[in-house]
Amino acid sequence: MTAPYVGQAARYEVTTPPPADGSTRARAGKLTLTHGVVETPQFMPVGTNATVKALSPDDIREVGASIILSNTYHLYLRPGHERIAQLGGLHRFMGWDGPILTDSGGFQVVSLGDLRVVDEDGVTFRSHIDGSLHRFTPEIAIGVQEALGSDVAVAFDQPVFPSSQRTVVTDATDRTHRWAERSLAAHSRPDQALFGIVQGGLEPDLRAESTRFIASLPFDGICIGGLAGDETPEQRDATLDVAIPLLADDPRPRYLMGLGSPADLLEAVHRGVDLFDSVLPARVARNGQLWVPGGRLNLRNQRFLDDPAPIQDDCPCIACRGFSRAYLAHLFRAKELLAYRLATCHNLTFTLDFMARIRAAIRAGTFPASISELRLRAGRVSGSEGVEKSA
Ligand SMILES: [Zn+2]
Repeated sequence: MTAPYVGQAARYEVTTPPPADGSTRARAGKLTLTHGVVETPQFMPVGTNATVKALSPDDIREVGASIILSNTYHLYLRPGHERIAQLGGLHRFMGWDGPILTDSGGFQVVSLGDLRVVDEDGVTFRSHIDGSLHRFTPEIAIGVQEALGSDVAVAFDQPVFPSSQRTVVTDATDRTHRWAERSLAAHSRPDQALFGIVQGGLEPDLRAESTRFIASLPFDGICIGGLAGDETPEQRDATLDVAIPLLADDPRPRYLMGLGSPADLLEAVHRGVDLFDSVLPARVARNGQLWVPGGRLNLRNQRFLDDPAPIQDDCPCIACRGFSRAYLAHLFRAKELLAYRLATCHNLTFTLDFMARIRAAIRAGTFPASISELRLRAGRVSGSEGVEKSA
């Protein structure tokens, strides 16, 4: 069994390693950060603008979240990282005292920023809010995250769409490696962990090379970037099957960025991933799509207007405890604000409960035997159900 990873601001212990028979790479662990402990495998709800949309910090706790993600790019543009630092840092600013991971902004810069120009030193882009001109470099991205004071910062990278041409992937992956080293050199905050990002697209040799390179650097965790985009589930699985075995003896946590449907989470855990984030459960909730065991309910459907049952019988969330499908369906039709809060609480409760079931099965040694039952519970809800992925 691998000894725990002990860094300055992060400790990771694999408490249940994968079974020796090779039936799964799923493992359970405990990640200790400055603001608390995170049981893995774990899902991080996304608080883009220093808020998980429609939820209060009490709601975030109640749905079962132990760590959230916030977006460096968005907070840098509005209200500004220096303002947040002046006000006591991101935890105090948003009233959340649990762990926070900030992404590096790399994904948003290339997906949301207009007129972006990538050069060796960094990226120049226009704000999607007001068109103003900005520049991110590895040093700036780290500086912004240190000002925010997240528990985990992430190295600045250059993501590309999974389906990009090989020359594009090669160029971006090599640059990501140089930026990883610069991110490490720039990082100085002792109470903040720093994760590096593996790129390499869907090319097995580039993905392997990137995994080896990033793993050779003294990061506190390994992010697997450049997935949860336009690849098929089979391509994603194949890419994880290249990267994760190379990390088999690595004691650090593995984080697949941007994946969020229960079915996708399950398969990635099976392949050895520990951490996830996505806007998906909350975004589909705001569209009236409620996740239930085996599938989903579309509350905009006429038939729910007379349905007195809760969304899900055994669900402990605030929506299912107190309200009917009929009431929720009415709120959505009337565009009442409470609809968004109740629906988001339900989908995040479902997602985080699903992760808890996965952890329980791993710890009990029954994960391989339970996987078909877990697949049934996840239903056919997939990230590719026509929902945009940008955060
Ligand atoms: Zn519920």
